[in-house]
Amino acid sequence: MTAKRRVRKAVRKGETKTKPAEQLVAANSVNRALNIMGDRATLLILNCAFLGVRRFNDFKVVTGIAPSLLTDRLRRLDDAGVMRRAVYSKRPPRYEYRLTEMGLGLHDTALMMIRWERRWHFDPNSPMQRPVHSTCGKEFTPEFTCAACGQFADARDVYATDGPGSGLDKPQGPRAQRRSTKMEETPKTVHKMLERAGELLGDRWTSHVVASAFRGAKRFADFQEQLNIASNILTDRLNRLVEAGILKKHLYQVRPERLSYKLTEEGRDLFPLIMTLMSWGDRWLDGGKGAPVIVRHKGCGTKLVPKITCNHCHEVVDHHNVTAPHSEALKSFSANRRHN
Ligand SMILES: [Zn+2]
Ligand SMILES: [Zn+2]
Repeated sequence: MTAKRRVRKAVRKGETKTKPAEQLVAANSVNRALNIMGDRATLLILNCAFLGVRRFNDFKVVTGIAPSLLTDRLRRLDDAGVMRRAVYSKRPPRYEYRLTEMGLGLHDTALMMIRWERRWHFDPNSPMQRPVHSTCGKEFTPEFTCAACGQFADARDVYATDGPGSGLDKPQGPRAQRRSTKMEETPKTVHKMLERAGELLGDRWTSHVVASAFRGAKRFADFQEQLNIASNILTDRLNRLVEAGILKKHLYQVRPERLSYKLTEEGRDLFPLIMTLMSWGDRWLDGGKGAPVIVRHKGCGTKLVPKITCNHCHEVVDHHNVTAPHSEALKSFSANRRHN
């Protein structure tokens, strides 16, 4: 039985026996990854960590996140194994936060956020959007390619099959986990620095809805089945995504009125971002069972493993060869943004 059919069966059972919150959803690594980092403050902390920020006070200045929220998110990242708190001064005791190997694995995702921002919402004044590839010395746009054949792969160039870890997961995050970050808790700079990719991924349900659209959800019921999401929240997020230009609505039935939702070109271009998240989730969050879903590249027939390259020299880009903007530049950028 495929994961999809298992879900249908579980959902049918759920209608009579369990409350919606207990229904199961098809296991997939993107949802697992988003449950850890699909939160505005967390995303910003991670992006800053990739730019070399390590100390609490620097995180506070650069991100503008309130100390209590910052403490909480750093602790969660530590618990999840993404960052480690380490002593950098014994007297007085001082700590800094370093990305672990697991955390460094999210570098590809950070690069794909930058790629999307540069392609659709380029802001020349944002230091975060202007990485330099030290291999060739040029400011670059990270490119997403298939590691096996070196070609760019679009959402339409791939197909998915059940992997060894396919099955059912508990319903994903939002309700079961922490409350989502309220707008007022994250100041303007948070949105400005991550612009739209942060807006999309940083809201837990929004990011889950986008990921679902990549898994083929089109109708309202498809999203509900994949996510076990309350209808009022789903309606709200679908509308927001239509407004943001990520999804477009189609009327597929007039009486009663039924709508379907498709990714726009801009929305489809989030595919590399979703794929790097999936790949990270497969590596770190599979619970030892293997990937729940295998995505294959139609072009070469192999499992799609992301390889990020530079658009100038076409060499690999990783956390060793990207030059981050100086932390002073980040701080003054943050300060300016906050005053505007
Ligand atoms: Zn390929
Ligand atoms: Zn280069």
